[in-house]
Order: sequence, then C-alpha cells, then structure tokens
Amino acid sequence: MTARDSHPLWRPYTQMKSAAPPLEAVATRGSRIVLADGRELIDGIASWWTAVHGYNHPHIAASVADQLAAMPHVMFGGLTHAPAERLAQRLTERLPGDLNHVFFTDSGSVAVEVALKMAVQLWLNRGKTGRTRVLAFRGGYHGDTMGAMSACDPEEGMHRRFGAYLPTQVFCELPRTADQEAALDAALARHRHELAAVIVEPLVQGAGGMLTHPPEVLATVARLARRHGLPLIADEIFTGFARTGTLFACEQAGIVPDILCLSKALTGGTMALAATVATTEIFSAFWSDDPAAALMHGPTFMANPLACAAANASLDLFETEPRLEQARAIATRLEDGLRPLARSPGVRAVRVLGAIGAVQFAEAPDLTALKQRLVARGVWVRPFGDILYLTPALTVPEDDLDRLIAAVVAETRALA
Ligand code: PLP
Repeated sequence: MTARDSHPLWRPYTQMKSAAPPLEAVATRGSRIVLADGRELIDGIASWWTAVHGYNHPHIAASVADQLAAMPHVMFGGLTHAPAERLAQRLTERLPGDLNHVFFTDSGSVAVEVALKMAVQLWLNRGKTGRTRVLAFRGGYHGDTMGAMSACDPEEGMHRRFGAYLPTQVFCELPRTADQEAALDAALARHRHELAAVIVEPLVQGAGGMLTHPPEVLATVARLARRHGLPLIADEIFTGFARTGTLFACEQAGIVPDILCLSKALTGGTMALAATVATTEIFSAFWSDDPAAALMHGPTFMANPLACAAANASLDLFETEPRLEQARAIATRLEDGLRPLARSPGVRAVRVLGAIGAVQFAEAPDLTALKQRLVARGVWVRPFGDILYLTPALTVPEDDLDRLIAAVVAETRALA
C-alpha cells in the first residue's frame, strides 16, 4: 500500500507506514473501553489522564445534553454566558490564593502558550523590554505547540527536530539537592534580566517519565522564583483535579503560583477545554487605559458552552462524590501492588504519587510487543520509553484496579 492510497486519518506520534493499525473503540463504560470486536479493556490511564470520574458519568452527560439543547456554541468575543461565568467563579474559589482570573482555551498546549504570552506581555506592560525567555526544568513536558515545545526538556526525543525553530529557553535541574538549588539560584541571577517567568510541573513531570519530586522541591522553586522577582507558572494540566491526592498539586507545597494551567480532567475528560488562571497581581498589569495592554489571544472556541457545562458538572462531582478519598485509596493499592517490584531484576525504580503508579525499567522494552501483551490481558495501558505506568479513573472499581496492577506486575516480571 502506498502513502497516497491509504490513511485519510493521520495519527498522533505515529509512524504511519509501520505502526500496527489502531484498535477501534465503539463505546466507553465506567472505566472500560469497548472495542468493535466486542472486547472490553480496563482503561489504566483514563484516556491520557483525563477521565477522572470514569466514562459516561450520567451527571456530566445530562448537563452537556441540556446545554446542547440550549446553546452548543456562541463566540466569546463581545458575548458571555452563564456556563463560563459560573465555571470561572467556581475555579477561582477552589484554586489556592488569589488565582482570581481565568482565561479559557481549548487544549493544554494552548493553555501553556497563553501562560507564556501572559508572562512576556506582563513585562512589556510594565515597561520592561528584553524579558522574552522562560526558565524551565529538565524532564519537563508542556505540550506540542511552538512555545510549549520550547519549554519541554530539549534532550527529550519527541521535539528535538524542531529545536532550530523554537525560542531558546534556560534549563535547570529541579532543585532536589543543595547543589542543584545553588545552580538554579545562580541561573536565575545570571538570566533574570532576560527571563519572563519560571515554569514547572508541580510534584510530577508526567510525559517526561512520571518523575516525582517532594513538595519541598516545588516550594524551593517557588521561593527562588520569588527571590528573583519572576512569576511562577504551575502547569497542573496533568496534576490538577485530585490526581496527586489533593485537588491541586500546588496545595501540597503550600504555594500559590502566579499563573496556573489546567486542562485534561477539567471537564472530567469529556470535552476539550483548558484554563490559564492568573493572580490579581498579574491581571492588574493588563488592566489599563491603553488598549495595547490587553492580552492578545482569543481562540474561536474559547469557553465553548458545552465544555464549560461539562466542567461545571465535573466540579459538582468533586463536591458530591469522594474523589480525594478515592485517589488516596488508589495510592495505597498502587503502593502495595507496585512497590515490591522495586526489588525485581530489570527494574530501575518504582514511583507512586496519589493515583499515579509507575515502574521504570533499567532498559526500554519493545513497546509494541508490550502494548500487545497488555491488550491480550484485557487492559489498556500505554508504556512509553522505559516507563510502564497506571493513572486510572479515580472511580475505578477495586477488581479492575487489581487487574491493572496484576497486569503491570506480570509484564514487569516477564521482562526481567
Ligand atoms: N502540560 C502537561 C503537564 C501535560 O501533561 C500535557 C499533556 O500531556 C500538556 C501540557 C499538553 O496538553 P494537550 O495535549 O492538551 O495539548
């Protein structure tokens, strides 16, 4: 088959010529994905970390259906609507500190782009030029658009080819040791006149390898950013909405970032929506008699009413159903089930944080074969690099969670 006569659909991160054909999903139920051939897979990663309430929650479905009947979409320039107003208000009430101003977009990457634009324009609005770079951390991942890619670990394979097209940022190790803290402090001092912000994934660098760090490390990042007068951008696109055991990961370090990015589980994983939330201090720099001081961004589907309705319904569920308790219960089970693998041959590390459990192998396995074996075990788990990990729905039934853990344990032992 040639490239020309096949594949109208171009797939993500996929070599179209050699990749195995994707499995066809026809339905979702609870924490399971139903395939066209009738098989049901237990979803161990909640559709790229989004479906925190499991799939097809009736409350979200009903809210979206009502909104669909009333007003599926309306442009956000010059107009507003109750679902967006209510969601913004509720998010600011739940976020720490004075993160009081919400800018909606439609994907995590774009939420990061907006955060970067906010940081750069903040300095321009304050009359300071030359502040065009951000300090980011090795191991980090912030998305696939140009600005977001520029803040991802430059050594990481997926974006290396685009290096020449990207703004060059300043990279440091997360300050896990006194030496790393001193190096970060020195880099901030050296570059502060060209830096617009510091960007970090709080408590866990997800796509970089499920690399966890203690809250004290995040607190150190926040303290040093403050010492050098730089806004801190917390990318909570993965960690937001209970994944780490608290509603937001920043809470565990007791910090309030200046800008915080949300997406993924914001709608309970049902619709594309993202938010970049700024403190009053940041927002004030855009509050001006000068029209040019306004934030110049506005996606067509900004604050889509259906997505806002889904997100409001998702927030209802965090109030009415015990998601934080469920996340902590999953953490205990992951700890009990995966931790013993740390002593297995071929395993470099086991990491558990909230409802995230990861096994890191000493060597990257054959991922295609591993994925096929996992499917044969009836689970949907997507290892990458040298990492096999679980981030299930917070509502995953105990039996399903046990099957997910058993599959990871068996495959890890088989690889040893
Ligand atoms: N930031 C983080 C921490 C992420 O984990 C991701 C996606 O995995 C993104 C940004 C990008 O989000 P999206 O894929 O919705 O563009």
